[in-house]
This record gives sequence, structure tokens and C-alpha cells, in this order.
Amino acid sequence: MKSNLLDFDAHALTGYFTEMGEKPFRARQLMRWIYKEGEHDFSAMTDIAAALRDKLAQCACVAAPNIMREELSGDGTRKWLLDVGTGNAVEAVYIPEETRGTLCVSTQAGCALDCAFCSTGKQGFNRNLSVAEIIGQLWWANQQLGKDADGNWKISNVVLMGMGEPLLNFDNTVSALRLMLDDHAYGLSRRRVTVSTSGIVPAMDRLREECPVALAVSLHAPNDKLRDTLMPVNRKYPLKALLAACGRYLERAPRDFITFEYVLLDGVNDSLQQARELVQLVREVSCKFNLIPFNPFPQTHYRCSGQDAVCRFRDVLMEAGIVTTTRKTRGDDIAAACGQLAGLVQDKTRRTAQHFAEVS
Ligand code: SAH
Ligand code: SF4
Repeated sequence: MKSNLLDFDAHALTGYFTEMGEKPFRARQLMRWIYKEGEHDFSAMTDIAAALRDKLAQCACVAAPNIMREELSGDGTRKWLLDVGTGNAVEAVYIPEETRGTLCVSTQAGCALDCAFCSTGKQGFNRNLSVAEIIGQLWWANQQLGKDADGNWKISNVVLMGMGEPLLNFDNTVSALRLMLDDHAYGLSRRRVTVSTSGIVPAMDRLREECPVALAVSLHAPNDKLRDTLMPVNRKYPLKALLAACGRYLERAPRDFITFEYVLLDGVNDSLQQARELVQLVREVSCKFNLIPFNPFPQTHYRCSGQDAVCRFRDVLMEAGIVTTTRKTRGDDIAAACGQLAGLVQDKTRRTAQHFAEVS
């Protein structure tokens, strides 16, 4: 079987060439072609000797996952559904904004952590994505979106907030992160790459040591009692341990705050009292809050909090001096929220067939 070069970070690719009896600098050369130029055809890599190009064509390839469907929302949000084999699909979503373009990337097919409000969780865990399947989402999206007038890829930021728990697919996630950061690959700054975690405490410590990037932590409740019911992972890593890990992470983090994500669920975690409890809970951690409107999906009984509740909740945090943003829903018309498109495809409902055009 051919080696997929998207599976190798700089260190692994150097090893690959050394084993082939080639000079280590070939790895940097190849990376520049693959990631900076978006090239997958070895015969087009003109500054590489013809003999090596032939050898690579025989034993290697540059293969991102196949695209099953593509959807474009009225607000410019684009979503790709990627086929990762054996009936599994994952998604990548591009969100354009005035000053940046953000790609939301998946790290697992499904998720084992079963958060009560999450459609990915409802699908159960299928498998970890390979490095090629993670970095391949960025590679593919860059191909599709192209470069801006200055010759830079339009994607300036990456968030690991798609399907799956990145820190439970640690090694592959870190190799993909290294490619995002590597100057010979995408060269993104650590501040522009964000890992979102449900709070896998030992892996947060490892990430801090091995590859500190911006960190978002899914909080969603102001106390263990409620968080235990919304996020079963809390029973293993309760809030006290999680907040201590956030403090340790900040010692090495590229930004001087942790972003706490908080999905507002009507009548569940959105009261004034809970907002005040939350302020107390996080008082020792330098943080910002991102309040996320709940995205409903077919098998859920939760509802999105009303506009008034959202504003009141936000005001309590802001009055306590915590910078708080309220995420706009984007790409509603294409089910762009976490896990939704893949869920629909697995349902194989008529709605899916009507809703999405095959990418030819
Ligand atoms: N597993 C990681 C990253 C993927 S989920 C994590 O949990 O952080 C990315 C974010 O989407 C998380 O904050 C998650 O809580 C949120 N999310 C999950 N389901 C959602 C829904 N139905 N509506 C809105 N946000 C949701
Ligand atoms: Fe997994 Fe994150 Fe969904 Fe929880 S919210 S089930 S950790 S993907």
C-alpha cells in the first residue's frame, strides 16, 4: 500500500526520506509543495529530481478524504462532508468573517463522551481520524477556497470544534497541529489554532507540554451536580480538577486566557442564579466566555434559551468583568452545527436526499 504523506508531520516525513536513503531536506521541500502550493501530483514538483518524483509516485500519495457532499449557506458558510470509509462521515465547516476565515475541523468519527445536548455524542464512537484525515480537511478546504489577493490561503484560523474529542485522539491531533503550525506547511500562529475539549485533564497537561495552542474548554454548567448530568466526563474529571488544569495550562498558553464555551439550554443552565454561580466558579482563572445558542437536532428534548435569558446571563458575566461573546448561529440553513450533517446522512432520511446535492 502507498504511504499517504499527509499522515506525516515534519519529524515523521524526515524519517521517511532518511529510510529511503534520501536527504532530510527533501521533507521540507515536499511539505512546501503539499501545503503551501496545495500540490498532490509529484510530477508537478519541478525542483525535485525526476528519479525521486518517479519513486514517490510508485510508493507514496497525497490523499485527503473523499468529499461526499458540499453545502453553501446564504451567509457564506461552507460545509463539506467527508467520507472516512465503512459508512462513516465527518464534517468540516468554513466560516468567513470580515477579518478572518475560520475552518472548524473534526478529529473523530462520532464521540464516546455522550454529552446530553450533542448530536455527535448521540451517534456513539466509531473511530479516531488519522493525521491525514484531520489535516486533509484543511488541505481540501484550502484547495476549494483558494488564495486571497496577497497569495495567502483564505483560512487564517483553525478550531478543533467539529466532531469528536480531540484530546482522546491525542497523537494524531498533535501531529496535525504541528503541520498547521510548521513554517514549511501552513505556518499558522499558535494563537490562531484552537483546541476545544470537554475537559480531559491529563491530556490538557500533555498538550501544554507538547504543543500548546489556544484552548477552549466546554463548561456548560456552574456546578458538578448539573455538569454530571449534561457531560458524563465530569464524573471522571470534576470541575475542581478541570479548573486547576486550566490554571496550569495558562502557564504555557499562547494566549493569556482560556475560552469557556457554554451552550445555553432553556430552563436547564441559563438562570441568573446559575450565571452568578458561574462567576464564582471561574474567579481564579483568566478567561473569556463564549455563549453558544443550542442547535436543536431531531432526537433532542432541549431547547435554545430565549433572547432575554441570553442577554441577562451575558450581563451577569460582563458585570463581573468577564469578556463574553455570544456566538451568532451561522449556516443554519445547512445544518452547520456540530455533528448535524453527518447525523442526517446516517439517518438516510428523504430530507437528506432532498437537502444536499452530491458533489460531482
Ligand atoms: N469534544 C470537544 C470539541 C467538539 S464539540 C468539546 O466538547 O469541546 C465543540 C463545541 O460544540 C462544544 O463546546 C460542544 O459543547 C458544542 N456543542 C455540542 N453540541 C451542541 C449543540 N447541539 N448546540 C450547540 N453547541 C453544541
Ligand atoms: Fe463529544 Fe464534544 Fe459532543 Fe461532548 S460535546 S459528545 S465531548 S463532541
